[in-house]
Amino acid sequence: MMITLDDILFATKGNVIGNAYHNLSFSGISIDSRNIKNGQLFIPLVGERFDGHDFILNAVRGGATACLTQKDIEIGDNDTVLIRVQDTLRSLQDIAKYMRQKYSKVKVIAITGSTGKTTTKNFVTSVLSQKYKVLSNIGNYNNQIGLPLTLVDIDETHDIAVLEMGMNSFGEIRNLSDIARPDVAIITNIGTAHIGNLGSRENILKAKLEITEFFGEDNIAYFNGDDDLLNKVNGNYRILYFGFNEKNDIQAFNIKSNKQDGMEFDVRYKGDIKHFMTKIPGKHNILNALPAIAAGYNFGMKYEDIFDGLAGTVNEKMRLKLISVNGISIIDDTYNANPDSVKAAIDYLIDISTNRRKVVILGDMLELGEYTVKAHEEIGEYCHLSGIDLLIAYGDYSKHIVDSAVNSGMRPGDVFYYQNKQELFRSLKTIVKPGDVILVKGSRGMKMDEIVDYLEEKY
Ligand code: ATP
Ligand code: MG
Repeated sequence: MMITLDDILFATKGNVIGNAYHNLSFSGISIDSRNIKNGQLFIPLVGERFDGHDFILNAVRGGATACLTQKDIEIGDNDTVLIRVQDTLRSLQDIAKYMRQKYSKVKVIAITGSTGKTTTKNFVTSVLSQKYKVLSNIGNYNNQIGLPLTLVDIDETHDIAVLEMGMNSFGEIRNLSDIARPDVAIITNIGTAHIGNLGSRENILKAKLEITEFFGEDNIAYFNGDDDLLNKVNGNYRILYFGFNEKNDIQAFNIKSNKQDGMEFDVRYKGDIKHFMTKIPGKHNILNALPAIAAGYNFGMKYEDIFDGLAGTVNEKMRLKLISVNGISIIDDTYNANPDSVKAAIDYLIDISTNRRKVVILGDMLELGEYTVKAHEEIGEYCHLSGIDLLIAYGDYSKHIVDSAVNSGMRPGDVFYYQNKQELFRSLKTIVKPGDVILVKGSRGMKMDEIVDYLEEKY
């Protein structure tokens, strides 16, 4: 990476305090003084608990050549350049926007949606990397800080940037799209994640569609055509629909689980039918793979390369990971939860556990606002209707899951409820039996991965 002091001053409209060093350039940008590297620019951000300005001296000692600051500070006698700006977060975003403009030939693919963004990003990145040099967010760096931090690493060697965009409320995707100016947009689905802030699925759709805010006739959006809201969108841009329904432009069918816990399926696109496979389990993940296949073809790739990129994509930690210990199988999907992803995970449990006892351990789903009670009740009913044998629930809201499971017909003896995790641990020994397939899932705040750890260690 080569980003110069002049680039930074131009992008941020900042002023150098003290001596300016011409021809100064940076090896990168960091917001964390603990792992700053020699020659980097340090950007202190002001958070709820920490203020990065308190760590400017640490960053200087760690090798930062320059630091932005939105406060009047002194750093004593040394060579580090201080650049005074209005707002350091805005400056980080302005630098990212400037760098994207500087390398405007790079094609940007932006991905949003309620669930499946990171998985889709990983599929798209893996496929396109078979032919192109691709920049993409590390892990889940998808917010107002993570996306610009990803984008500042763009340079002339990149062909394509694949960027995940997350949001909690209106205006956030618009701002990220203004920074990244996507050429291609992907929306995975419109679910109910963050409905607490936005009030309705229609509003969630509106907020996600901000990803097309800067689109014109030449731009293309890949939308999940099986989604009842996305398949009615009209825009001044081209739309490619993907999904299981045959009305879609690109359709997956003939879906089979294979022996390696992955899946095989056929894809129809532009009158041609081709076979694909993935190591990532769960039928819903085929929906996350379809935009990657479409992107591969639209970026002029051969079937064999797209096939390899898709087959080579691996799952992130804590997402539908199958673990076997002492005769029980655990599906670790503890990364996070909302109603749609819980249902998708239950479907997967049912798919893989023919003739075995189906157990779910569910924690609360958070951030659902007014919709909280209804969402938990829906999941209780879904457990019963799907044929779950044993339901174990943990957390305050999860009481609604067990009540509704029983109300909709599950035997009270097959339903267990805990407010305390230690109590849940103690009961697991008597409840769980060899041969069981156990799905563990809940919102991140519920730390349901501790239950997976317990089962792995103690069972
Ligand atoms: P985040 O908002 O946390 O960034 P994300 O949108 O990036 O999430 P992933 O990390 O890809 O989503 O997947 C998170 C979970 O969502 C998975 O473990 C899986 O249970 C579920 N999931 C993924 N894709 C889908 C889908 N297409 N439909 C329903 N559930 C899905
Ligand atoms: Mg993500």
